[in-house]
Amino acid sequence: MALSGLDIYKHLPKTNCKECGFPTCLAFAMQLAAKKVDLSKCPRITEAGKAALDSASRPPIKLVSIGKDDQKLEVGNETVMFRHEETFYHPTGLGFLIEDTLTSDEVSQKVSSINKLKFERVGQEIKVDLIALKCASSNKETFVELVKRVSSQTDLGLVLMSDNPEVMKEGLDIVKDRRPLIYAADKDNFEKMAELAKERSLPLAVKAQTLDELAVLVEKITARGVEDLVLDCEDKDLPKKIQELTQVRKLALKKTFRPLGYPTIAITASTCPYQEVTEAASYVAKYASIVIMKGVEPWQVLPILTLRQNIFTDPQKPLQVEAKVYEVGQVSDKSPVLVTTNFSLSYYSVESEVESSRVGAYIIASFAEGLSVLTAWAAEKFTAETIAKTLNECGIKDKVSHKEVIIPGYVAVLSAPLEEESGWKVKVGPKEAAGIPSYLRSLKNS
Ligand code: SF4
Repeated sequence: MALSGLDIYKHLPKTNCKECGFPTCLAFAMQLAAKKVDLSKCPRITEAGKAALDSASRPPIKLVSIGKDDQKLEVGNETVMFRHEETFYHPTGLGFLIEDTLTSDEVSQKVSSINKLKFERVGQEIKVDLIALKCASSNKETFVELVKRVSSQTDLGLVLMSDNPEVMKEGLDIVKDRRPLIYAADKDNFEKMAELAKERSLPLAVKAQTLDELAVLVEKITARGVEDLVLDCEDKDLPKKIQELTQVRKLALKKTFRPLGYPTIAITASTCPYQEVTEAASYVAKYASIVIMKGVEPWQVLPILTLRQNIFTDPQKPLQVEAKVYEVGQVSDKSPVLVTTNFSLSYYSVESEVESSRVGAYIIASFAEGLSVLTAWAAEKFTAETIAKTLNECGIKDKVSHKEVIIPGYVAVLSAPLEEESGWKVKVGPKEAAGIPSYLRSLKNS
């Protein structure tokens, strides 16, 4: 929780010496609360005051990074329970489990499938983040072989999974420069696992059966100087796991309970591939920072990435496309002209249906602050006046030799006023984008 100016003021020297460049300590505190200055500007702050402010200003859920460079995944640092309160900042990392009991061909095939899990949706690339390598064989050499093989075949971030610190050490020696997540410290191995994480400055997952045990373990590990932690409430059924993930989030945000103020990881347990998708999706929604699953089929992964994209889009900043004229397919001066709003989902729904119709067409994305057609119409951002203005200013008049525009069926009511306002003949298109292909083909044949 952010500190107020008064909270900060309590820890300042209160001398009003002005050395920070502000007339009073209170003025400085206010600027500090607004994050406009740095605490280091006050040369008189005591060590105790500094420590109190440093700790109090620490985010309630620590930001932890895994992987490096382009493949760096940052998780944690969330500030709200519900997206509509503000926004969620760090999308859940999605990873895939590979065990060292697979044959080398099976491993290579799986890595190749995972590397291809990239999709384009509403103009953005959505992709997966991690591969989790598990020592299921209890054999050090087999695990090391797996780590070598996979790390040479992917740039994705890595999670190394073994309860045996000796096995973990061998694996880490191969990929320590890629900042893998060590999974996991538990009540039996935490001292050695913490040592490995500290020596190599790597993030460490911590697992325990209950939240009480988890909190105790975290305190023991942080006391050893390891701060980049990821929490696992261990194997449970789905409802129990969701309940505990929610509790961790609540205790971190609402009670500023530091031992649970870390991102979380959830590993799917479902053996049915369909159930696994719903399980992983549930963890994305509530409140896993990382989800590790087994299934690597695109039909399993795309819905989860789509859900993640929706949940982690700032609700106050809808995804928008540039408001302009788009050409889809082979266009000529006789091609039909469709108009929609500049809300990404509206635009790309129309675009994909025009594409599949194989009728070349112009689509005008009219500026409507990124709102969907009906919402924009209700908010008076998509009106006869705004569409007429767009038709006049977007350059479409230089591209076509006709003056006919197709508006979405949901705003048929705009038909007459738009004709009057723009001088263009208005045709009412289908209500749903799915109706566009048959509509355009019927125009072509008429
Ligand atoms: S330098 Fe420190 S003590 Fe002096 S006025 Fe600024 S905040 Fe207060």
